[in-house]
Amino acid sequence: MKFESKTLGILGGGQLGRMSAIAAAELGIRVHIYCPDEDSPAGQVAVKTFIGSYDDKKKLMAFADSVDVVSYEFENIPVDTVRYIGEYKPVYPDGKLLEIAQNRISEKRFLNDIGIPTTRWLPIRSPSDLEEALRETGLGEVILKTTRFGYDGKGQLVHRAGDDPKKSWKRLGSRELILEEPVDFDCEVSVIVARDKKGQSALYGPVRNEHKNHILWQSTVSASIPDKTAKQARGIALLLAAKVDLVGVLGLEMFVAKDGRILANEIAPRTHNSGHWTIDACAVSQFEQHVRTVCGLPVGSPERHSDAVMTNLLGGDVRKMAKWYATKDGCIHLYGKSEVRAGRKMGHVTVLKPLTKTE
Ligand code: AMP
Repeated sequence: MKFESKTLGILGGGQLGRMSAIAAAELGIRVHIYCPDEDSPAGQVAVKTFIGSYDDKKKLMAFADSVDVVSYEFENIPVDTVRYIGEYKPVYPDGKLLEIAQNRISEKRFLNDIGIPTTRWLPIRSPSDLEEALRETGLGEVILKTTRFGYDGKGQLVHRAGDDPKKSWKRLGSRELILEEPVDFDCEVSVIVARDKKGQSALYGPVRNEHKNHILWQSTVSASIPDKTAKQARGIALLLAAKVDLVGVLGLEMFVAKDGRILANEIAPRTHNSGHWTIDACAVSQFEQHVRTVCGLPVGSPERHSDAVMTNLLGGDVRKMAKWYATKDGCIHLYGKSEVRAGRKMGHVTVLKPLTKTE
């Protein structure tokens, strides 16, 4: 008798793919990575890596041929690539979610359409749009963001009444921007949802997130927010997962405003940095859920056995590892990146603490 094991293809070679590949190996599932770079963090731990650009149809076809099912590990994979692969092999999560999440305007519009509140926003397609929007909203200060390829605070700036709209427009250098009302928030949280083909879900969080220079620095569970707020945040994430008929994992970033409202900010159609602690603090991690759900297996238990503080190792932090190796209950994860750059996510450490409460 033979025990059939699946081969999962992952588009993208970063640390999220790496941690999913490690989780897959634990389940006896083989992972093939497709990415443009040699020696990628995910490629280092995968069974096979296909190196090619995301528009190289011949290579993409060979990759698709070698696997049973395909997923992706970062949101800037071209939608056309996912569609092309989808002609040959099933791809999860669905390309529609990826498309929504790739543009901040379609993302906020979709969220509002399904009844999930966000901060007030407007599309901006010229410097005069910006002038008019400031007049119309009466806001003295707004956040301007490029609609695409913005991450970790890249592609955004604060524009104040009296600032030159042409200058702000030029600085962001995009044909389309989104204007957002700044949220006066108490804290930033995220919820991660895994959902399988039968529609069963598993939730993590809310997680409390702190940023340094717009880059996630620390994630803490329990988030220490009122139960009612936590319940509401989980409900919002669950609604989103159901509305997109999610098969896979997504992360939803939200603001808890000082007036108590929860405002969604960003959808990640993949595993999320604020869920890395789940590897060490939960029965089943977000990465194992990713592998399980896209491979047609049921979601596992997200139960948390410990509280946790996850700290990202950004850029030069990775040179001060001695402190972390000496930390009791510190679980170290390095991503195999050899080039240190300011703000680059090199690894993370999760420090476990006794469980205080479960959400
Ligand atoms: P984003 O790229 O949208 O995730 O933004 C990066 C970070 O900028 C967020 O985590 C917040 O700390 C801050 N930020 C973004 N948008 C807003 C907003 N509308 N109001 C207040 N802070 C924001």
